[in-house]
Amino acid sequence: MNVPQCNPKAGYQAHQAEIDAAIKRVLDSGWYILGKEVETFEKAFASYIGVSHAVGVGNGTDALELALRACGVGPGDLVFTVSHSAVATVAAIELTGATPVLVDIDPNSYTMDPKSLAAALARPPQGNPKAIIPVHLYGHPTDMPVIVEIARHHKMHVIEDCAQSHGATLNGKKTGVWGHLAAFSFYPTKNLGALGDGGMVVTSNPSLAEQVRLLQQYGWRQRYISDMPGGNSRLDEMQAAILNVKLNYLTADTTRRNDIAVMYDNLLRNTDLDLPTTTAGAAHAYHQYVVRSRTRDALAEHLKQQGVGTAIHYPVPVHMQPAYQNRLAQVVPLSNTEQAAKEICSLPMFPQLSEAQVQYVCEVANQFRHQAGLR
Ligand SMILES: *Cc1c(COP(=O)(O)O)cnc(C)c1O
Repeated sequence: MNVPQCNPKAGYQAHQAEIDAAIKRVLDSGWYILGKEVETFEKAFASYIGVSHAVGVGNGTDALELALRACGVGPGDLVFTVSHSAVATVAAIELTGATPVLVDIDPNSYTMDPKSLAAALARPPQGNPKAIIPVHLYGHPTDMPVIVEIARHHKMHVIEDCAQSHGATLNGKKTGVWGHLAAFSFYPTKNLGALGDGGMVVTSNPSLAEQVRLLQQYGWRQRYISDMPGGNSRLDEMQAAILNVKLNYLTADTTRRNDIAVMYDNLLRNTDLDLPTTTAGAAHAYHQYVVRSRTRDALAEHLKQQGVGTAIHYPVPVHMQPAYQNRLAQVVPLSNTEQAAKEICSLPMFPQLSEAQVQYVCEVANQFRHQAGLR
């Protein structure tokens, strides 16, 4: 049996007729940028998350950058985030001219450790502490009540990186409503995936929403009149039409991801793998199901030999990447981050994964333990 780690094509095929019709509708409309589809999707997505404003943009990295710029973040400012994330988070900070300050993660939730954030804020590098970007990695919400309180105390902005957490909740509220703004990605493999690039900035603050709108298109309030300098980052009509279809299935997909996680939990309970946990009050969106093993590379190789795809999200922490090492100031230890990078392994996870496939993955993982035990 072959089980891929992810399968965006299956997400298309599950709703093929509806998606094909949506694409045809856009092709026939003759209107391809910023029209009815984007408008409809922005309204529907804002309502799904529980915010009053949503602005479609080109991708998740742009969403982070524009959210930061809307808060006035620029050169001389410090933005605190985690090293255990997609490199996009730090890249977006540097695109504004600000300096990223990396803090450690909680080893169980893989999200920003508020104690590490507080320690970094107690002895920051030179610069003006301006914003915090918690990343709800793998779909697990960060400890937002504590992060928001720290931000309030230091008069800083909070921008949530929700690129992996569409549909996750904490204390009954979705990720994306806790910060001043939040950034989403619709990259094809995300929990809500387009069939190309796409992103969204959400906020319930009307003036921040207006700033993002202006920055998104040359500072235009009125076409061809730039009230402020801006660039170009737009969600196109085709992707918005596809997302309008797929948003209708996001709740069911999130439930399915959780059902798959329960199957994994049960079938892997007796292995020596560390299984993912969910903190009290949190509802996981299971973008990834990440296990830990001190023999991770051998486990991944064994699974691969038996046709099971895995991935490492992410193999090298940002502060150890060639582009960033020795360049970013390190003010707190990042030991949980460095340890996790050596041990994590993302098992296959996507809503169309069948029960038989999940059982097969677990059988193969159990074989590995038995083999390891014989050594
Ligand atoms: C995917 C991702 C991004 C970037 O989104 P793109 O649409 O690929 O630019 C940012 N942060 C995290 C945590 C991501 O997983």
